[in-house]
Amino acid sequence: MSDHELRVALLGCGNVGSEVARLLTEQASDLAARIGTSVRLAGVAVRRPNRHRTIPAELLTTDAAALVESDVDLVVEVIGGIEPARTLLLAALRSGKSVVTANKALLAEHAGELFAAADATGADLYFEAAVAGAIPLLRPLRESLAGDRINSVLGIVNGTTNFILSAMDETGSGYAEALEEASRLGYAEADPTADVDGYDAASKAAILASLAFHTRVTAADVHREGISAVTAADVAAARALGRTIKLLAICERVADPDGSESVAVRVHPAMIPRGHPLAAVGGAFNAVFVEADAAGQLMFYGQGAGGAPTASAVLGDLVAVARNRLVGGRGPGESAYAALPVRPISRASTRYHLSLDVADRPGVLASVAAVFAEHDVSIAAVRQEGRSGDASLVIVTHSAPDAALRSTVDKIAGLPAVREVVSVMRVEGEDL
Ligand code: NAP
Repeated sequence: MSDHELRVALLGCGNVGSEVARLLTEQASDLAARIGTSVRLAGVAVRRPNRHRTIPAELLTTDAAALVESDVDLVVEVIGGIEPARTLLLAALRSGKSVVTANKALLAEHAGELFAAADATGADLYFEAAVAGAIPLLRPLRESLAGDRINSVLGIVNGTTNFILSAMDETGSGYAEALEEASRLGYAEADPTADVDGYDAASKAAILASLAFHTRVTAADVHREGISAVTAADVAAARALGRTIKLLAICERVADPDGSESVAVRVHPAMIPRGHPLAAVGGAFNAVFVEADAAGQLMFYGQGAGGAPTASAVLGDLVAVARNRLVGGRGPGESAYAALPVRPISRASTRYHLSLDVADRPGVLASVAAVFAEHDVSIAAVRQEGRSGDASLVIVTHSAPDAALRSTVDKIAGLPAVREVVSVMRVEGEDL
C-alpha cells in the first residue's frame, strides 16, 4: 500500500454529502485496501456549519474556494446548481485536482468547459451519481459499451414524477392531489418545478445522449414537456387501452433520408403498454433501457435518488479517481468526436393517442379522419363509444412528425362536431 494518503475536499454536506462523509469515515479501512492507499476527509464546505453536528468542527468551513485551493488531491462536489459549483470545479480541475460530482444541472450545461479544464491538466472528471442515483449507468455507457454502437437510451430517470404518475394510475387521483401526497411523503421538494416540469430529466437526458452518441448535447437541446398537464382523464384513457403513463427520457440515433445521422433527445409523458418492463417501475425507482448494435438490449434498474444510494455512486467514482491518481493515470475524458446534429422535435416522429368528445351523429368520424389525411397523419386504430347524443372517439396514430400532429389537433379542436379534445398523449412501446 502506498504511504501517500489522498486528501479529499467535500463540497456540500446535505442529503448526499452527509452520506458521502459517513461512508468515507465508516469504510475508511476497506476503501484504503481497495484503492491501495488511504483517503482522508480534509475538509467539508457548507453554508451553515452549525447545522452539521456529525462532522468534526475542525473540518467544517464556509470557504469552499479556499478548501479547493488547499493541499487536497480530490474534490467531491455535492452542492448542486450552477454557481458556485462551476467556478469551484473549474478551479479544482485547472490545478490538476480530480473531481467527482453528482451535479446533473452543471454537467448538462457546462460539460465542454469542464472537460477542457480537465484535459488541460490531465485531471479526472467523474459524474456517475449525476444520472439515476445508485444505478451504474454512465460507466457502462462511457467504458463497457465504448466498443459498441449505441442506438437508443430510453427510460425513467426522475423518481418524483414517477411516484406522482404511479399514484395517479393506482388511485385515479388528479395531478394536484398526487403531487400533494408526494410532498407529504418527502418524494417531492418544496419547489417541485425542476422535477415536474421535466428540467431534471432533461439534464439527465442531455448527459446520457452525450455519452451514448459521442456528441455534445446540452439541456437546451432537449425537447422537454413535464407532467403537470397530465390529467386523471389521460390516465383513465391510458388504462382503457391497457397502457399507463410514464415520464420518459428518450435519446435516439436517427437516420435522415439522405443517409446522414442525427440525434433526437426528448423528455415527455407517454403512454406505454402495461406489459412493458418500464410500466412495472413504480414509486421513486429509475430504469433505463440501452439498445446497442452488438450488445442488443440492456436494462438498468434501481434506486435513482436518495442520500445513501447516490453516495454509493459518488464513492464508486472516488475509488476510481483515487486509483487513477495512484498509478499516475487518468480515466476517459470527453468523447464528442461524432458531433452529430441534434434534430428539433418538430422533425421527430412519434405516435399519438387522442381522445375526443364528439357529437354522436353520422359523418363525424369521417370529418375527423379527413383532417388527419389532410395533414398526412395516418391512423392506426379508432374506437368510438356513443352515449346519449355524445360520443367518445379514441384515435391512435402511426408515427408522424410532431409538427403535423400539432396542426392536426389544432384543426380538429375547431371542428363543429368536436366538443372537447379530452386527451392528447404520445405513445411509446409496441404497436397497438
Ligand atoms: P442538499 O441536501 O440541498 O445539500 C446541498 C449542500 O450544499 C448543503 O450541505 C449546503 O450547505 C451546501 N451548500 C450550498 N451552497 C453552498 C456554498 N455556496 N458553499 C458551500 N456549501 C454550500 O442537496 P443534495 O440533495 O445533497 O444534492 C447535492 C447534489 O447531488 C445536487 O447536484 C443534486 O442534483 C445531486 N443529486 C442528488 C440526489 C438526491 O437524491 N438528493 C440524487 C442524485 C444527485 P448547508 O447544509 O450548510 O446549507
